Amino acid sequence: MARSLDLYTAEKLAALDVQALRRSLQDTAREGVWIVRGGRRLLSFSCNDYLGLSVHPELKVAAKAAIDRYGVGAGASRLVTGNHPLYGVLEERLAAIKKTDDACVFGSGYLANTGIIPSLIGGDDVIFADALCHSCLWAGAQLSQAQLHVFRHNDVTHLEELLARYRPSHAHALILTDGVFSMDGDLAPLPELARLASGFDAWLMSDDAHGLGVLGAGAGSAAAMGVTPDLQMGTLSKALGSYGGYLCASRPVIELMHTRARTLIYSTGLPPAQIAAAIAALDIIRREPERVAAPLAKARAFTKALGMAPAQSPIVPVVLGDEQAALTASSVLEEAGFAVVAIRPPTVPAGTARLRIAFSALHADADVLRLAETIRTKVLHGARSTTIVNAAGRSA
Ligand SMILES: *Cc1c(COP(=O)(O)O)cnc(C)c1O
Repeated sequence: MARSLDLYTAEKLAALDVQALRRSLQDTAREGVWIVRGGRRLLSFSCNDYLGLSVHPELKVAAKAAIDRYGVGAGASRLVTGNHPLYGVLEERLAAIKKTDDACVFGSGYLANTGIIPSLIGGDDVIFADALCHSCLWAGAQLSQAQLHVFRHNDVTHLEELLARYRPSHAHALILTDGVFSMDGDLAPLPELARLASGFDAWLMSDDAHGLGVLGAGAGSAAAMGVTPDLQMGTLSKALGSYGGYLCASRPVIELMHTRARTLIYSTGLPPAQIAAAIAALDIIRREPERVAAPLAKARAFTKALGMAPAQSPIVPVVLGDEQAALTASSVLEEAGFAVVAIRPPTVPAGTARLRIAFSALHADADVLRLAETIRTKVLHGARSTTIVNAAGRSA
């Protein structure tokens, strides 16, 4: 009987409770921007379904047709027998929207990052990562066993110093950044990063999980800034409303993934329905520019109402500092009928617990303003705005 295991985990949980860092799962029935939790119907500002596509009838029809034709599961890894024909269609569409030679779809964004990075970078190499990179970029960096240097968030001068000092003594170098930072909603300076990458012969990898479908007319953050990073990864699970991850890059890079990316090779292919839904989502993104523009427009209406700097993406943080303040703010908003989840360390650096507000094309303008007013009066108590604190802590 593993009594020591239960004692150990119970102690850990008690310590997390004391720090207001314990997390728990809650049953959540979701229909677009509305969720039902504990018997209450709440308007959610915590979904990454920016375009409302996860509940779109066209995606549902496409997914059902794929199930009827190919079944509910892939049956094996893509390298074995799981590479159903929808993969090729989706990869062609992804490469087209990202303007790359080719693309490779992975099981999720997390699996993409933990597969891509160690396939390209090893123990003799060096990685430079923005301090606020997503957790799965850190995981990929750790798996690679490369030397890791962290540059201050969006600080290209700091990155340049690190490149000058550490790049020359390594065989290969990789720069990692989010395109849109998932918890801050700001954008990476991709043109400057690309310039440094080419100057120091480093490869630039941008994680555009929150850019595809909402920035750059739907093509993402790099397109919005007119650059093409060497490695453009992202997810099918946010604006595309489905599930899965991808890498868009040159043909040799993609072909190497097929042979070397362990998370692709040793994990079952995606269910055909998810691929079909992602293809349908890309069709809608191409056809409906107003839908694509809506989340950012709503985020800007919100930041304007609160006197904050204009939103750069559909994600707006209201940084409150300590964990308890963020949890209290979240429950105050729940009382008012809004679901806005408190984000705490280690997802964000210590001292920067926050409300992370995500806007969707499905939000009514009046509800956006009502949320702003509720935050102004009940969370900020009339204060004009908050500052966004970007501590240079690592997020994993
Ligand atoms: C959500 C997210 C991921 C992970 O994508 P999944 O498909 O959900 O695994 C990766 N990077 C960033 C920046 C994210 O926000």
